[in-house]
Amino acid sequence: MKKRLLLINPSNPCKTGLTINKSSRFPPLGLGIIAALTPDDWRIKIVDENFDSFKYEEADLVGITAFTSSAKRAYDIATEYREKGIPTIIGGIHASMLPDEAKQYVDTVVIGEAEGIWPKVISDFENGKLESVYQGELINADMVPKARHELFHPGYMFGAIQTARGCPMDCEFCSVTQFNGHKYRQRPINDVLDELESIPQKMIFFVDDNILGYGKNANERAIKLFKGMIDRGIKKDWFCQASINFAEDEEVLEYAAKSGCKIVFIGLEAEDEKYLGTVNKKMNIKIGSGKYRDVIDRINSYKIAVLGSFIYGLDNDTSNSLQKRIEYIINSPVDVMQTTILTPLPGTRLFEKFKSEDRLLYDKFPDDWVHFDMTEVTFKPLHMTHKQLSQIMSYSNRCLYTKKIIFSKFLKTLFSTKSLTTSIWACSSNFNYRNVALSMEKVKE
Ligand code: SF4
Repeated sequence: MKKRLLLINPSNPCKTGLTINKSSRFPPLGLGIIAALTPDDWRIKIVDENFDSFKYEEADLVGITAFTSSAKRAYDIATEYREKGIPTIIGGIHASMLPDEAKQYVDTVVIGEAEGIWPKVISDFENGKLESVYQGELINADMVPKARHELFHPGYMFGAIQTARGCPMDCEFCSVTQFNGHKYRQRPINDVLDELESIPQKMIFFVDDNILGYGKNANERAIKLFKGMIDRGIKKDWFCQASINFAEDEEVLEYAAKSGCKIVFIGLEAEDEKYLGTVNKKMNIKIGSGKYRDVIDRINSYKIAVLGSFIYGLDNDTSNSLQKRIEYIINSPVDVMQTTILTPLPGTRLFEKFKSEDRLLYDKFPDDWVHFDMTEVTFKPLHMTHKQLSQIMSYSNRCLYTKKIIFSKFLKTLFSTKSLTTSIWACSSNFNYRNVALSMEKVKE
């Protein structure tokens, strides 16, 4: 009889965040990769709390992933299995950043990228000598297998795929560089195209933190990828994340659009680069916030909308500067508006800084990790109280996500992209953020 591996994707039970919207849920790609690396004589099931609350089911081995805000939930689920003597393994970003914490709640912690070490984990389990910690090394990108997309919940509207890992930028609030390294590692184009062909959904989210990457070959490689999609007849509509350099090369934009790109997510963070130095946002500082309008116009001219992400609570932010940021977001050509509170995630330099300056509002971990979901103030700002920052966030939600503003953004997108499809994508994304904002206000009540 086959052994049973249960892979679990927990969700923060207190707040649903963007997953309140069906179209904002994305498959747990890491679990699909783990499934692909597991030998054929295992029966594998993914239990996904993006859709159904976890209910205990039998397994020989349990693997759990977790973001910081779902870490407590992951530990609770692991505890149920440990009490029954079933071995539990945790991996993913949170456990990799805090392995000593994770070790208290699970039998085994896999730190870092799992691909290189997972076969050993499985063979150690089979030989009854599972260790408590495994260190995964940064792998060559050609070792990333095709994720088992058929195991993901069929309710996902978007498929997900990763084309590269790593980021040299090392922004203060981000743990990507720590987790995936400075070096940009790109999967072979044919591997990505093969995997794209195996994804059943028509709509795709490229989960890369930056679809282009950096360096002299970045644009060339992106064009090859987009042309490959066109040549193979892979007809998908997609969105991606990129740095502000996405607009530098017109050929990149042309082939991105031709291969189905509808929205690009860009971390603009603030309307003026004087705020960006505090979080080391090098690329935006280099290009200059004065160029944001040109960048967005150029992307729009290829029928692609821009999702502009902004941060509230930077160290030199004041009530006034945030008021200006809200006005900027409304009046700027940004098509989709995303705002988050600066959040010191474990593993980042920001977390260490706030901890050393005694500015963290919470210290009862892991219970308090539920607050670290980017919608809540978790630290003491420098120029206002944390309550003031929280009130500004609420005020911003009420200003940005009115039906009137969303409708005016829809008209703006329609005018600048001349694409009804792109405008509908952008508009429904704004409505998704509106739903999250409304749900957050209810949580506060
Ligand atoms: S925020 Fe983006 S650019 Fe900055 S380190 Fe993270 S992935 Fe890289």
